[in-house]
Amino acid sequence: MPLDWLNALPRQPLGLLPTPLQPLDRLSAELGGPRVWVKRDDCTGLATGGNKTRKLEYLLGAARATGADTVLTYGAVQSNHARQTAAACAVAGFECHLLLARKVPWEDVNYEHLGNPQLDRLLGANVHLVDAREFNSRNAALRAELDARLRRVYVIPTGGSNATGALGYAACAEELANQARALEELQLTDILHASSSAGTQAGLVAGFAALGAGSDIRVHGINVSEPDQQSLFDAVQGIASELLQTHQTGTPLDPGQIHIDSRYLGDGYGLPTELTLEAIRKVAALEGLLLDPVYSGKAMGGLIDRIRRGEFDTVRDLVFIHTGGIAALPVYGSVL
Ligand SMILES: *Cc1c(COP(=O)(O)O)cnc(C)c1O
Repeated sequence: MPLDWLNALPRQPLGLLPTPLQPLDRLSAELGGPRVWVKRDDCTGLATGGNKTRKLEYLLGAARATGADTVLTYGAVQSNHARQTAAACAVAGFECHLLLARKVPWEDVNYEHLGNPQLDRLLGANVHLVDAREFNSRNAALRAELDARLRRVYVIPTGGSNATGALGYAACAEELANQARALEELQLTDILHASSSAGTQAGLVAGFAALGAGSDIRVHGINVSEPDQQSLFDAVQGIASELLQTHQTGTPLDPGQIHIDSRYLGDGYGLPTELTLEAIRKVAALEGLLLDPVYSGKAMGGLIDRIRRGEFDTVRDLVFIHTGGIAALPVYGSVL
């Protein structure tokens, strides 16, 4: 069933949509597995693009509907979500506050100055950098300060991952299904992407379920951040169920449709593995396509390894969602 109910929801147009869907023929030939396609959500257009743009269309739509004039959101120092929120707030005319926690043990003198935080400042956001242990107290102080200034604040969770933000990826599920149908040569059965705060995966899973395609299409989330896989699973399930219930699609969520792979996390969030770096170099050299060391490169490392292991041997077409992230490349110069 088409997701017509999405059209009735408040939405702030931000992205260049639909994003292209392209075959990666040289990579596919090199790997010798399924035909690999890339869904270019790195090309959503907002200040170097990325997957948060789709979520922010619904989040800022909701913010405006509630009469907010200020947005507050959270992330790590090199958060792509924070950077896209800064850009979205610039476009839509919201005051923007970013509370960014130092939580990635990556030593680079420019870690807090180049890449995403540089762009956040350029885009006019108020950047508040805090140590992880003082996060709660600084958050409370910031909220009190905004209240004292009588700002009408709309709070967006980390990664824009809640049932409102995930609507962007329910819409993407439909977009992808339509593109695949128009291509004919593409059998949409398996999709793989970097999963972290759960909103992307939850939106896709809920979207395909609502389209009635939940049992035909597997969404493989490559866990790039969560040491405890169960908590990522629970987050995906929680957001996807809430999305489906809120919009009364009458579709139950089958937990069997949530596939999470944590084998590629390595030492943790923000820390690329050897496989991550190999994947970034290979895809750049073979396809002229840039990936990042935190998300898309780690997920592509998983895709390459899983094809080598024969895990996709029965799959004809494998769609990789490029979720963005290249803005962080400058602070990974020591390894790339
Ligand atoms: C946030 C992000 C992800 C993960 O998306 P979630 O919805 O948080 O799971 C993947 N790739 C990039 C580049 C991101 O910025």
